[in-house]
Amino acid sequence: MTIDLDVTTLRTGFHGIVCTPGDPEYDEARSIWNGAIDRRPALIARCGSAGDVAAAVRYARETGLEIAVRGGGHSFSGASVCDDGLMIDLSRLNEVTVDPVNRTAVCGGGAALADLDAATQEHGLAVPAGTISHTGVAGLTLGGGFGWLTARHGLSCDNLIGADVVLADGRLVRASATENPDLFWAIRGGGGNFGIVTAFEFRLFPIGPMVNLGMFFFTLEQGADALRLAREIVPALPRSCGALVAALNAPPAPFVPEQHHFAPGFAILIAGFESPEEHASLVAPIREALPPLFEFVTPLPYAALQSMLDDSAPWGILGYEKAVYVDDLTEDVVNVIAGLVPSKASPMSLMPMFYLGGAFCDTGADDTAFGGDRNAKWVINMAAVAPTPELLEADRAWSRALFDALLPHTSESGVYINFMAEYDADRVRATYGPEKYARLAALKAQYDPENLLHRNMNIKPA
Ligand SMILES: Cc1cc2nc3c(=O)[nH]c(=O)nc-3n(C[C@H](O)[C@H](O)[C@H](O)COP(=O)(O)OP(=O)(O)OC[C@H]3O[C@@H](n4cnc5c(N)ncnc54)[C@H](O)[C@@H]3O)c2cc1C
Repeated sequence: MTIDLDVTTLRTGFHGIVCTPGDPEYDEARSIWNGAIDRRPALIARCGSAGDVAAAVRYARETGLEIAVRGGGHSFSGASVCDDGLMIDLSRLNEVTVDPVNRTAVCGGGAALADLDAATQEHGLAVPAGTISHTGVAGLTLGGGFGWLTARHGLSCDNLIGADVVLADGRLVRASATENPDLFWAIRGGGGNFGIVTAFEFRLFPIGPMVNLGMFFFTLEQGADALRLAREIVPALPRSCGALVAALNAPPAPFVPEQHHFAPGFAILIAGFESPEEHASLVAPIREALPPLFEFVTPLPYAALQSMLDDSAPWGILGYEKAVYVDDLTEDVVNVIAGLVPSKASPMSLMPMFYLGGAFCDTGADDTAFGGDRNAKWVINMAAVAPTPELLEADRAWSRALFDALLPHTSESGVYINFMAEYDADRVRATYGPEKYARLAALKAQYDPENLLHRNMNIKPA
């Protein structure tokens, strides 16, 4: 559909670029991580400043265009692009400024994790974030954000000091513990519902530059035993470690013996942030308990740890996902996973299982808007990742079958909002629970009564 719009008013004084269908960079600008999503906005405002973001919001209000906000463009749901509306693209706002003395960083609302890690690691510092470096800081932080440093320092949103936010009426405000504290509470877990964040200020921690990795890969037949081992070992790890358990195919990487490239199986990965000796002693029981098909134990730069899984989910691949929370990898859970993993069709589809414990549990459930309680638990993700539409369809069904089979064993009826490929209003409500949802809905009514910002895990205005 072609819409007749007068773009001159938006272009006047705009620092970035306003792109329309037919412009040379239009197709690149509308593309997002999930290659299965193909949408054509009427306009793309590639913002160069917070003022541009405010101008774009005001323009959408005047023209009635639907808004889609793009941070890193990494959501499986494709929330950051829409048909016929205005895509407000923050990807040019990716500057990161570090204050090494006060151990803080200010990060643009369109930065990728790689931008944040590169800038902070120059000073031997880091903030907890995700496990794939081309993910956007914005969507990840607004929904929570966990990765290798979560047991040590909590979620990304737990380490937010403040943010600059363009509200749905076009005003630019600051949210922090002392300025608009209700907004500050809501954006730490409430997603992109309450405004467009043009800058995040984070608390940083000394990390690296060298850290330690232990990766143990088990065959499909060892799958149930590998999960039982993870159940014993991972929750008992000290906070100096981060763990990730995954069902996946071994990548064709240099650290994988060639004969095992693409072998399906299960991996236990332990990252250690203290000495190599401590790490060696923590991972030794894994190989003693269950001899792996192969292993890779090595020191590596923190930035390399943060990007080592990047190729497992490259930009433009076709994706779909579902996820659940479980308290423990019980025998029922182990049997479901070990039974269904072998039936995936795409060699790229995978099941990352993140353990949330340690510092994750130090923050009170009501201290932030994060969806879900703060008890230690596992987040199990079933991600269909496919190079062709046929394989995507097959593994969409695989992901749904796993979800249905795991549902009776879940600890909470909700799910991590950043792991929802499809918007489901009931599950979003269940994720926050009645009291938190009511508080969020009241704040939505205050900050965005017309639900202008609705392409997200939407909270309806009260
Ligand atoms: C391969 C892969 C690996 C992942 N690994 C992890 C992981 O290890 N840990 C983890 O916690 N999550 C992980 N995620 C999930 C990730 O947190 C979400 O996909 C998140 O939404 C990505 O944010 P984004 O800014 O890149 O996405 P976008 O698609 O740009 O945005 C996602 C949502 O946030 C809104 N939004 C974006 N920017 C802004 C902004 N500046 N202000 C207000 N709203 C905004 C959008 O409108 C949309 O609703 C992963 C996702 C993928 C695809």
